[in-house]
Amino acid sequence: MTKCLAPNAWLLNNEAWRDNSHFKAALPRMDVLHRFSFIDLPIRGQWVRLENSLAEATQFRVYPKPIHEMLGQMLAAVAMVADNIKFSGAVTLQSRGDGDLLRSLAECKDQSFLRGIMHLQNPDNHAIDEQPLAQWLGNGQLALSLIPDKESGMQPYQGFVSLEYDTLAQCLEHYFVTSEQLETCLNFASDSSAKAPSVTGLLLQRLPNNPQATEIEIDAARDAWHTLTTLAATVTDEELSQLDAQTLLYRLFHEHPCRLHEPRALSYRCSCSREKTDTTLMMLGSEDLSALIEEQSEITVDCEFCGNRYTYDRDSATKVLTDLEEQTTAANPAGASSDDPKTLH
Ligand SMILES: [Zn+2]
Repeated sequence: MTKCLAPNAWLLNNEAWRDNSHFKAALPRMDVLHRFSFIDLPIRGQWVRLENSLAEATQFRVYPKPIHEMLGQMLAAVAMVADNIKFSGAVTLQSRGDGDLLRSLAECKDQSFLRGIMHLQNPDNHAIDEQPLAQWLGNGQLALSLIPDKESGMQPYQGFVSLEYDTLAQCLEHYFVTSEQLETCLNFASDSSAKAPSVTGLLLQRLPNNPQATEIEIDAARDAWHTLTTLAATVTDEELSQLDAQTLLYRLFHEHPCRLHEPRALSYRCSCSREKTDTTLMMLGSEDLSALIEEQSEITVDCEFCGNRYTYDRDSATKVLTDLEEQTTAANPAGASSDDPKTLH
């Protein structure tokens, strides 16, 4: 039998983490994600708890409890996906439908910065009950997207998550198995009793066997996966939402040596900017933007994620309009295009 490791022996890389409270005091606004791996097995995992970033993501809107919890789970999910991808850009999970939940979006930028929003059919209806995901979305879709920064030269990717299971965790498990051929076991638990509600996610993933693995090693990996997922299934909501990563992993898997990697700090940060708001105004088109400038002495654009307000007086709005017209001219020099009706006369 494998030797049991005392809880502290799991913490191999970061002394500061022996005292969790010290870290929390030093970085009061940070949430964390821990990656862990089982020694000599092609099985990895992630534990993430979001408290501050969830509080900040919901500071401008009051959501019904199940929707608040769903946003927390979506944010935890994108943090986990982003942690496994080495690229600069955003991972998003977003839905669109015609049910109680019209639109939703959770984003993790550069593996560290979270933001999210839920749009309800009726924002004043606070009596929304727990429902299967598909029912919340109605006739809708849920998509997982990777949006690399332009400079990376990488192509964006989007995959659709089947809604045939009741919970987000089950739908994502199915997605990872079918889209990435990675057997996955995912659990979320929320703690809404605390002053600041939190969400915790625990994920196990079985990686492909090493091509050089022997029959014995392949059998051992399969048996270990069965054992570890059976143990993970015994976790209660209370354990998952209350215990720290180290204690939880030890309690669940103490017979299987596990390496807890250094934590990744996560925090709320909105990626809105003056530049992006300029682009939003440009998307109105020069005719409508020009009419808007004529009509209003001041144009304001509010970021729906963070409530930041971007204000344009006539001069600054006209500058955006001029930039737009210059871009249009550069893209369609006179005589170069015949398919844009606006350039025909
Ligand atoms: Zn913003």
